[in-house]
Amino acid sequence: MKTDTKLTHIGRGDETLDVRPVNPTIMRASTILFKNHEAWQACRKARETQRVLSYGARGTATNFELEKLICELEGGYRAQLFPTGLASLAMVLLNYASVGAHFIITDAIYGPVRSICDNFLNKIGVDIDFIKADASDIEEKIKPNTKLILCESPGSILYEIIDLPRLCKIAHAHNIPVAIDSTYSSSYLLSPIKFGVDIVVVAATKYLSGHSDVTMGIVVINEKEWANFNKLPEIFGFTASPDDAYLVLRGIRTLGVRLKAHEKNAKEIVEFLQTRDEIKTIFYPALKSHHNHEIFMRDHNGANGMVTIEFKDGINKDEAIKFVDNLNLFSIGASWGGYESLATVTVPPRTATDWSDRGPFVRFHIGLEDSGDLIEDLKQALNKINKG
Ligand SMILES: *Cc1c(COP(=O)(O)O)cnc(C)c1O
Repeated sequence: MKTDTKLTHIGRGDETLDVRPVNPTIMRASTILFKNHEAWQACRKARETQRVLSYGARGTATNFELEKLICELEGGYRAQLFPTGLASLAMVLLNYASVGAHFIITDAIYGPVRSICDNFLNKIGVDIDFIKADASDIEEKIKPNTKLILCESPGSILYEIIDLPRLCKIAHAHNIPVAIDSTYSSSYLLSPIKFGVDIVVVAATKYLSGHSDVTMGIVVINEKEWANFNKLPEIFGFTASPDDAYLVLRGIRTLGVRLKAHEKNAKEIVEFLQTRDEIKTIFYPALKSHHNHEIFMRDHNGANGMVTIEFKDGINKDEAIKFVDNLNLFSIGASWGGYESLATVTVPPRTATDWSDRGPFVRFHIGLEDSGDLIEDLKQALNKINKG
């Protein structure tokens, strides 16, 4: 099955029924009942290795349908739902944490991961090195006690691209598992596991749900690392609501068409932005001028609707804020991946490289509105900028 067919056909509930609805039903539960003690015991045994209904917090049939679909899309062994994307990342980090362990994290990692490091991992004695966003300096940063490499590609805010097959080859030669935050690609634009990645995290909050009305994270793992990760959500009592799983299942059916529409609109807007002299740099990985564009084209099935611009010298942060305030169709808001356009003035958090003299930056999420309307809106707001 090709991806678009999987999106349509997998995770639709019990297909053995003679009469059934198109979509899976929402199964809400805490307590699950068993007809006798033997059935209860059998279930306890089975759940050690299989997805079976045993207790609400371990997921119900609705959650399992979504896990099945994402697992198929990513080509993993197992998937596990979490209440947020950030919780998924925290669990992956925690799974490899121990006193004296060393983690390598790429510089363009989702910003709040840094606070997991500063507020928790550092305190329990995990040593963390941030490396270049494109991971080109990976070899010199590996230590004998490196237990995990966490990367993000395309990276947050500036969409830095990592050569994943290269990174995985180096990591595996040292027996280090590689995890990726693949929210940009959202189980559609990239297949990290095919390139050797062991653990894939996707914030379903973004394109998978697609309608800005749910938060959820998903971890997809290969068989080797699953053995390790398996017990963690249960130990910590992490779960995701079946209602939310239903919403993501509902949103994901149109993931393919939505992503293509976001990409088409984003490309038209990038073309327009290229004509404007207020802008110094456009960050969009499908642009030839983007760093590691060839690797992006080699490995990805397309780009999404995220575009970041850097204003030229002389346009200060106040002007960037005024520009965003003057937009009518772009709302100001964090998160992205819904149907609507967003714009925020932002600073990319980086430590392995120095961006302190760059910017101001504005990050857009290009939504599904008419691109001509969006361009008109950008035009009027750009025209009001005082160019200094
Ligand atoms: C939004 C986002 C997350 C976190 O998802 P939440 O569900 O909001 O916690 C993680 N990684 C990336 C790249 C994101 O953009």
